[in-house]
Amino acid sequence: MTVRTRVAPSPTGDPHVGTAYIALFNRCFAHQHGGQFILRIEDTDQTRSTNESEQMILDSLKWLGLTWDEGPDVGGPHGPYRQSERKHMYREYAEALIEKGHAFKCYRTSEELDVLRTELKEKGENRALKPQDLELPADEQARRESENAPYVIRMRVPFDGRCEIDDMLRGTVELDWALVDAQILLKSDGMPTYHLANIVDDHLMEITHVIRGEEWLNSAPKHKLLYEYFGWDMPALCHMPLLRNPDKSKLSKRKNPTSILFYQRMGYMAEALVNYLGRMGWSMPDESEKFTLEQMQAAFDIQRVSLGGPVFDVEKLSWLNGQWLRDQTDEQFLDSLLNWAYNRDYAMKIIPHLRQRVETLSEVADKAAFCFNGMPAITPASFEHKQYGTDDMVVWLQYLLWTYEARSDWNRDGLFVDAKAIADALEVKIKDFLLPVFIAIAGTSASFSVVDAMEIIGSDVSRARIRHAIEVLGGVSKKQMKKLEKAYRDIAASF
Ligand code: GLU
Repeated sequence: MTVRTRVAPSPTGDPHVGTAYIALFNRCFAHQHGGQFILRIEDTDQTRSTNESEQMILDSLKWLGLTWDEGPDVGGPHGPYRQSERKHMYREYAEALIEKGHAFKCYRTSEELDVLRTELKEKGENRALKPQDLELPADEQARRESENAPYVIRMRVPFDGRCEIDDMLRGTVELDWALVDAQILLKSDGMPTYHLANIVDDHLMEITHVIRGEEWLNSAPKHKLLYEYFGWDMPALCHMPLLRNPDKSKLSKRKNPTSILFYQRMGYMAEALVNYLGRMGWSMPDESEKFTLEQMQAAFDIQRVSLGGPVFDVEKLSWLNGQWLRDQTDEQFLDSLLNWAYNRDYAMKIIPHLRQRVETLSEVADKAAFCFNGMPAITPASFEHKQYGTDDMVVWLQYLLWTYEARSDWNRDGLFVDAKAIADALEVKIKDFLLPVFIAIAGTSASFSVVDAMEIIGSDVSRARIRHAIEVLGGVSKKQMKKLEKAYRDIAASF
């Protein structure tokens, strides 16, 4: 048997360090066994998937050196490797299950589903919706069918009992069928859900080992059942522990930057980030802290993964990055700098905005410093304004952050339109509104246009700096956050 593994990201946002983590372990496992590692793009959620996000995922995994043997850009014998290009294939599999009696057409409306769920709750039944709840009397089913009412295809699932799942790290795990719903396989728009597409593709792509995040363990019973229904062998399953914030909560961008691009732009070395991810729940047999991807692969043993939630701690990553930088020669260090940001391409983004603002070249370094720095050195006093206090500014920055987090593209005009919309909604002059943004981004208001600056430093660092400024200004309490979220929804509705 040739070992084949895959990473299957959904292109719905910034390239996440969790994706790199899963890619790393899949790649090490496959290559150590002389097998193949595949990249598959799971873009069946067409409202949330974007080409930009897919491109960023590909670019950032390549930057990390986590290359793949088959994938949307390099092709391979089992393509296409993008689910949206395979969409014609899934319906026949869903229909084959109906024919075998393992799935059914469900005409229930979302209002009816709400009623069914409320009824279950009122009866105190702690279980998922089952085919028995959802199926309509034959005449009603026929009526809706004849009216061409929209329907989904759902799988049949047992009402109760235990389901045993074999996990490479956990051994046999027992899960409760009562909590497993009659999963939708094909949506009313004809698109498959993750569960159907994932199983069909893993089978057709001859995946032998599914190494994925722990959050998918609860889906494993459905997947096991689908393999049985289709009569296919199931790949071995391995659920990796979730990465955590230092406070042990699930790694989230509210508490830690999670985008790979953030770490790239902050000047972390790709080798150091991969090294650090390799230490998340895993260690070298000799416990060495610093190792390369090749060394990790050579020594790899998936059984050495420990299940205690690994903490992704930026301070520890910085320490390790320092080790990597220190072990470079002067020449290598220079190359790292040149590759990173001290180069013609990056300078050419900055020069048009600076050229007119200096009298001697010696002024450039100072004026451009914020384009190369991490977080600016700011204090609440930096935000001094004759009319507005820092309480107002925290709110503005928080609103702006939410708007920018929702942006799929990142360009100066769009960034300005968003800022202006919030300023107008709050009846604040745009000049005043932008003052704290200047401080957050450039550390001073005496800089070139802040929207140009944000385009240059990129979305990840810009958002991190806005978040940092909010913290410097005292942050937003949990209680205040609730209020702000509501107020923001109201003003965002008017954009
Ligand atoms: N598209 C899923 C994700 O983004 C893949 C999960 C899996 O590996 O099965 O996490």
